[in-house]
Amino acid sequence: MKEFRTILVAVDFSDSSNNAFQMALAMARKFAAKLYVLHVINEPVDLRGFYVPHISFEKLEEEIEEGAKKMMESFCRKNLHDFDNFECLIVPGLPYEQIIGQAEEKTADLIVLGTHGRTGLDHVLFGSTAEKVVRKSPYPVLTVRLEEETS
Ligand code: AMP
Repeated sequence: MKEFRTILVAVDFSDSSNNAFQMALAMARKFAAKLYVLHVINEPVDLRGFYVPHISFEKLEEEIEEGAKKMMESFCRKNLHDFDNFECLIVPGLPYEQIIGQAEEKTADLIVLGTHGRTGLDHVLFGSTAEKVVRKSPYPVLTVRLEEETS
């Protein structure tokens, strides 16, 4: 059986991704694997040129990044206090591209993500990030469904 030495879990801090994270952590413990916890900041590229923001884009991006860092820190403090072999990654971009890109860069043996994210849409089988990662990733992907999403 293939060993999972490196596992990448994608978190958007939704209930679904928190649930997927618990599965990834359990697997990382079982296989003594390194766990990468990835959050992608959706780039507001479409806004450029359409609006004249009150604060500069640089300032806005800085604040979004600061907020993401704080959320990640609090998430890791809460969930990883008894697990050392992990690294947090925060990158800007398109979530599905970055999830696959970071899996490649970190030579992950497995990508773990929730079937749904912050956008909800529980009537569809997969959210759009989940669907794109499953379709496009050359690496194994484990999608984890929250119990209440199955009905
Ligand atoms: P979605 O397909 O957007 O409903 O989300 C499905 C899953 O993809 C979530 O449960 C997360 O595991 C992952 N995901 C979605 N957006 C992001 C993001 N911005 N950063 C990291 N992971 C994400």
